[in-house]
Amino acid sequence: MSIVPAANLLRTAVPQASSEEPERDVVPENPPTESWQRQLAAAIRDPAELRKRLGLPAIEAELTGSEGFPTLVPESFLRRMQPANPHDPLLLQVLTGPEESNSVAGFVADPVGDTAARKAPGMLQKYAGRALLVATGACAVHCRYCFRREYPYQNEPRRMDDWQPAIDALAEDSSITEVILSGGDPLMLTDIRLTELCQKLDAIPHIERIRFHTRLPIVLPSRVTDNFIRLLKELRAQPLVIVHANHGNEIADDCQQALQRIVRAGVPVLNQAVLLRNINNCADALEELCRRLTNIGVMPYYLHQLDRITGAAHFEVDVATGRRLITELAARLPGYAVPKFVQEIPGQPNKTSLF
Ligand code: SF4
Repeated sequence: MSIVPAANLLRTAVPQASSEEPERDVVPENPPTESWQRQLAAAIRDPAELRKRLGLPAIEAELTGSEGFPTLVPESFLRRMQPANPHDPLLLQVLTGPEESNSVAGFVADPVGDTAARKAPGMLQKYAGRALLVATGACAVHCRYCFRREYPYQNEPRRMDDWQPAIDALAEDSSITEVILSGGDPLMLTDIRLTELCQKLDAIPHIERIRFHTRLPIVLPSRVTDNFIRLLKELRAQPLVIVHANHGNEIADDCQQALQRIVRAGVPVLNQAVLLRNINNCADALEELCRRLTNIGVMPYYLHQLDRITGAAHFEVDVATGRRLITELAARLPGYAVPKFVQEIPGQPNKTSLF
C-alpha cells in the first residue's frame, strides 16, 4: 500500500498549509475551510466567557492563565460540561485558577526531562527503539496540568524543511523502529502537513510503527476527517492512535463517534489518563471512564501519576491512593480494561510501574 500523495489531498478541499505553524494557539487560515478549523477559531479563550456560558457566577479578578498558556476550550468539549456545576470534572481540567500561581517545591518547568532527551531539532529520545517528534506546539485545548506547558516550542521546527535533521537522524539509526508524533498535538497540523511528515517517516524502511499522541479526537472530534482516516489506512508502517481522556463524561456524543471511526478503520486506539484530584480520583469515575472506552474499542492503557509541572500541584493525588484505586478497578473490571498505573521518571529506561 502507498500513502496518499499530499498532492492528491490538495484536490480534496483541504486548505493549503501555511509556511509556518504558530508556536501555540493555532488560528486557522482565513477563511478556514475545514469544520474543525472553524470550530477551533470559535473556541473559548476567555475564562469569564467560559463561566458565563456555563451559567456560573463571574469572579472579580479572573485569572486568564499564565503567559503563553491562556484559556482554550473548544465548543464540543464545553457541550459535555454540566451547566451551573463549578465542580464539573471537565471544567476543572481547563479552568484557570489562582492555584496556578503557587510555587510548590518539586514542581518544575521540565518535569519529564524533555530538555535532556533532545537529540535533534524537534526530536526527543528517552527509550530504546523509540523517538518522539514534537510535531507542533499547538493544541486545541489547554489542560491546566499540561506537562509541556513550559516547553520551548519556539526552538522547534516550524517549516517542513526544518524537519530534515530529525528525519536524517531517524534514517541513520536503524535501532529506532517506532516514531511517536506528539506536541502540543500533532493533529493540529493540517492533513497536508501531517501527511507530508508521515510520508517522510513512512519512507524510512526500519520505521515499523507510527504513533499519534493526540487529544483532539476527544476535545475537537471533527478533526477526525476523512483524510486523516485515509492517511492512517494507507501508511506502510503500523499506525497507533493514543488518545487522552480523564473522565467518562468526555467519552460521549461526537467524541464517541470520532473514536469509533478510528477503531473501525482497523487502527489500534489506546487511552492515557492522568490521575487528577477532584476529577477522577475515585473508583467510580475511573471505572466509568474505562468502561466507556472499552465499550467502543478504545483500550485503557495508562493511568499516569501527575507530572510535576509548575502550577499544577493542586491536581496531584498521592501514589498510595492511585494504587488503591487500581486495586478497586481490578476487582470491578476485566483485566484488559484496567490501565497500568505509571509515572515518567527522567532518566529511567521506561515508564516506572507504580503498581
Ligand atoms: S492535550 Fe496534551 S498537549 Fe494539549 S494541553 Fe492537554 S496535556 Fe498538553
